[in-house]
Amino acid sequence: MIKNIDDYNFKNKKALVRVDFNVPMNHRNEITDGRRIHKARPTIDKIVRDGGIPIIISHLGRPNGMIKPKYSLRPVANFLEDLGYSVVYGYQSIGEEAENAVNSAKVGDIVLLENLRYNIEERNNDADFCKSLAKLADVYVNDAFGTAHRAHASTYGVASLFENRFCGYLLEKEIEFLGRTLENPKPPVVAIIGGAKISGKINIIENLFKICDTILLGGGMMFTFYKALGYEIGGSILEVQHVELATKILKIADELGKNIVLPLDVVVANSFRNDAQFKTVSCEMIQRHDIGMDIGYKTQDLFSNVILKAKTVIWNGPMGVFEMDNFARGTFEIAKSMVRATEKGAITIVGGGDSASAIKKLNLVDKVSHLSTGGGASLEFMEGKVLPGIKALDVPEK
Ligand code: AMP
Repeated sequence: MIKNIDDYNFKNKKALVRVDFNVPMNHRNEITDGRRIHKARPTIDKIVRDGGIPIIISHLGRPNGMIKPKYSLRPVANFLEDLGYSVVYGYQSIGEEAENAVNSAKVGDIVLLENLRYNIEERNNDADFCKSLAKLADVYVNDAFGTAHRAHASTYGVASLFENRFCGYLLEKEIEFLGRTLENPKPPVVAIIGGAKISGKINIIENLFKICDTILLGGGMMFTFYKALGYEIGGSILEVQHVELATKILKIADELGKNIVLPLDVVVANSFRNDAQFKTVSCEMIQRHDIGMDIGYKTQDLFSNVILKAKTVIWNGPMGVFEMDNFARGTFEIAKSMVRATEKGAITIVGGGDSASAIKKLNLVDKVSHLSTGGGASLEFMEGKVLPGIKALDVPEK
């Protein structure tokens, strides 16, 4: 059983709170996007409101066990102060500096400790490092979904050292939406899978077969499937080594009575650039000099119709090279269909990564049921893997 923080009163408790404050900064170490900090506030505020002291821990970038000023969480402390928090900052995440910071904090303060990854022991899930972290607090809260697929000290090892361990509000939402939807989705279930390569998504496709009636396939990976079907794909992205796998997937789908829907038409360009000449052609008409960049209009309509009939829609990966304006349309149309499906009452889930960027770019974040905050973590979740950071929170039922 995974407990949430609503069931607990943090009064007079010190709570070690693992968050994801891995925020983007410019070369002057100024935070350029503080959304991750804002998102963690409900969890922090609940602990403060109860009369407890949150001891916030996070990683930032990849300093690989070295103290590098550009990865310091100091700017985050300032950011939190600007938001009105009374912040006690610790120059280390463990040891004397950390303990002094924790001991000097009063009720109403929050403690922010320095980047966990200044210590290589964090990534190695080192037992002593876990003990040093655990020593700082009475209870543990994990609210960092983005690192839940990593068995690091602060996300995994430390959890079992606390009898009272909880998921924060953000993690709870991920578990609820991703977990519950994948376990028990309302049919008909449709998945939309795109992205550059089949290799990164194969486990997801296999796992989704368990719950999906239909998989809509777009993005660069569609060309490996076309190849498997014997179509000309010109200079489009191809994973030669996976053509056989694509054939196998199509065969398995057939045997299981599942639908894999490949695009009917494709936007092709004469070079891999936004200012290239482009046109839409049917999928059997791709020429040797063509490069496939996006799904075509007919496919957009077809995919849209399928999405609008679904009660559960799961989307991961763009339909085309959406970073280039001329080839973003397919991806954006899918994003809009997701919103329309949500309005019609479907549960719609957007996995992290590039599909999430597309939704953000269109300002549609609040218009789908759930936008996962973790790239790698949501992929692993969709693959059906048990995430170490979530597993570690499990406590026996009394
Ligand atoms: P992924 O990380 O696997 O989800 O892949 C995302 C990337 O796939 C984006 O950077 C897209 O530009 C790229 N992509 C999508 N469609 C195509 C395509 N037709 N050709 C090449 N790259 C593509």
